Amino acid sequence: MHAEHAAGQLYRFRAVASLPELRAAGELGAALHGLCDPTAPLSFACGGGTPPAPPADGETEKYVLCCGGGEEVEMVAMPAPGGRSWSLCVSSQVGCRMGCSFCETGRMGLLRNLSAAEIVALAAHVLGLHVANVIFMGMGEPLDNVDAVVQAIACVPPPAIRVLVDPAGLAVPVSHVTVSTSGEAEHVHTLLQALPSVRLAFSLHAPNDALRSRLMPINRRVPLALLAEAMRHCIAATRRRVTVQYVLLAGVNDHPAHAKELASFLAAVGPASRLHVNLLPYNAQSGTPRYSAPSADACKAFKAELVAARLFVKIRWTKGADKMAACGQLGNLNLRRELRRRRLEYAEAAGEGARDATGLRAPSRDGGAACAQRDTLVW
Ligand code: SF4
Repeated sequence: MHAEHAAGQLYRFRAVASLPELRAAGELGAALHGLCDPTAPLSFACGGGTPPAPPADGETEKYVLCCGGGEEVEMVAMPAPGGRSWSLCVSSQVGCRMGCSFCETGRMGLLRNLSAAEIVALAAHVLGLHVANVIFMGMGEPLDNVDAVVQAIACVPPPAIRVLVDPAGLAVPVSHVTVSTSGEAEHVHTLLQALPSVRLAFSLHAPNDALRSRLMPINRRVPLALLAEAMRHCIAATRRRVTVQYVLLAGVNDHPAHAKELASFLAAVGPASRLHVNLLPYNAQSGTPRYSAPSADACKAFKAELVAARLFVKIRWTKGADKMAACGQLGNLNLRRELRRRRLEYAEAAGEGARDATGLRAPSRDGGAACAQRDTLVW
């Protein structure tokens, strides 16, 4: 009973105390303090060095945190509507193997999945803020790491240490947790079975298979017809609005004709009252960007076509682009260097062109950089 009580206290303290408080927690004893030290070499202790400061009022902030294996992972805190609380955009993987062509993370490939503890530790790094929403829209495809994501949101089955949604922990209502997917349709069922109240956001980004396959390699494996089925299942299972995300790329997918095509695709998915469309004007990538952002007029014209189809539509104007913290901008140079180092190491051991466990091809020494950008998962 004493042990249980102590464990409960520790859990609560670990979940709700800020990092400076943890560091000053002498009464927990040296051993316990060591366990709570974010610089300890534990995979749970995600983060090293100085704890990041909370963002200044009203500012979007990007955090780069070190995992146990030395990799870096990123998370973004944004002011929630109303200005009194925050939305956290958390990552589920270090990198991503989906290879979406407009996404900085997608250009890196996948280093590894985050564990449930690491995902929670990411969110715990900005404790002291009032977190109103947790959005799995950072680095990685959450449903490509579905078990850890489910466990991080609400550890099931018992011992039921409900972490992100636990009233004694971060206490974020499960209906304020959104999981975004690029199209892992089969895992939508897994997620909804474990967490029927969670919100889902489907990243469409194109209204037809030909264009979507060009922008998002996953579409070759999970075409729009399968995605529509998963969306219908989600609407029926949750009886709530499903979010649709659509990045607007100038001259590629932002013509009013694309909007009309999108509206007719969505009409076949479900009633307009069950759909919420977020339009995301493109945010520039590092290096030479492949795309450019549409004008404000083009965004408004696109929106008008969808509104005419009675859809609920919002344009999500960019936040945090100056810090490379906006949608599609996560992933930094250190990570890309680490990825390239590992691939070259793998090429030495396995031979050029061999594919590793994540499906990525080992690069050649001379053309490695270009290969690392282009070569993602084989569908
Ligand atoms: S948009 Fe999402 S799924 Fe696509 S590459 Fe980027 S992180 Fe991965």
